[in-house]
Amino acid sequence: MQEVILSAKDVCKSFAHNGGQAHVLSHVDIDIYEKDFTVIMGASGSGKSTLLYALSGMDKATSGSVMYQGKDIVKMKEKELSSLRHTDFGFVFQQMHLVSNLSLFENVAVPGYLNKKKSKAEVDARTNELLDRMDLDKIKSHLPSQASGGEQQRCAIARAVINEPKLLFADEPTGALNRKNTKEVLELLSDLNKQGQSVLMVTHDLKAALRGNRILYIADGNIVGDLRLAPYSKEDEASREAQVNAWLSSMEW
Ligand code: ADP
Ligand code: MG
Repeated sequence: MQEVILSAKDVCKSFAHNGGQAHVLSHVDIDIYEKDFTVIMGASGSGKSTLLYALSGMDKATSGSVMYQGKDIVKMKEKELSSLRHTDFGFVFQQMHLVSNLSLFENVAVPGYLNKKKSKAEVDARTNELLDRMDLDKIKSHLPSQASGGEQQRCAIARAVINEPKLLFADEPTGALNRKNTKEVLELLSDLNKQGQSVLMVTHDLKAALRGNRILYIADGNIVGDLRLAPYSKEDEASREAQVNAWLSSMEW
């Protein structure tokens, strides 16, 4: 039996819009499981990012509950939420948001220093190990502007996992990358997941979605599809792509 890491019940999210309310999420019930690589797909504007933000507490749901370790994220005070986002959750976005005047090494290490759970030596050691794994060890003293888009995104992923988050949230992490860099970043996410990292990723890219072992499809403010797949392997990518494509067509993607 897989453990549930996040449990959303009756989650609604609306925004003020043209003097009225736009209901983006309406009564979403979903459990996210530990060690899964869960993917959220859906048309542009369907509420994928909104769902990811509601589940992570980045932007609170209007109503409903999101349970994490026995506590409701929707009811948390900002201070508690902020500490959760720094210690238990990791975040990767389409834009990398690296600090431009810090080296790649410093970009990864600083959230580790700020977390104060490990000594500086331990954080430095983990930073070096991550940069090595992300194949960034040779350019770790470079500034972000001296690195390619793919290198910057790999650095952003290293930063997101420096504090060993229980769950890594990613919103279109390959959205701004070319094909080669996309592949590198996907390899990295697959590797992290293989080593036990739970991942929840929004994407509209089929190749990225294939990395998941579960794909959720969102439409009309709710989850209308929930597909389970075997863990990703390069060997079965063609048949996997056919399977996911057929499923997405049935969702009218
Ligand atoms: P997706 O990520 O699937 O493309 P989003 O979750 O970003 O979609 O947005 C879903 C809908 O909610 C869109 O119609 C968008 O305009 C609206 N929306 C998102 N964020 C806000 C906001 N902060 N204020 C008002 N409307 C928003
Ligand atoms: Mg989005």
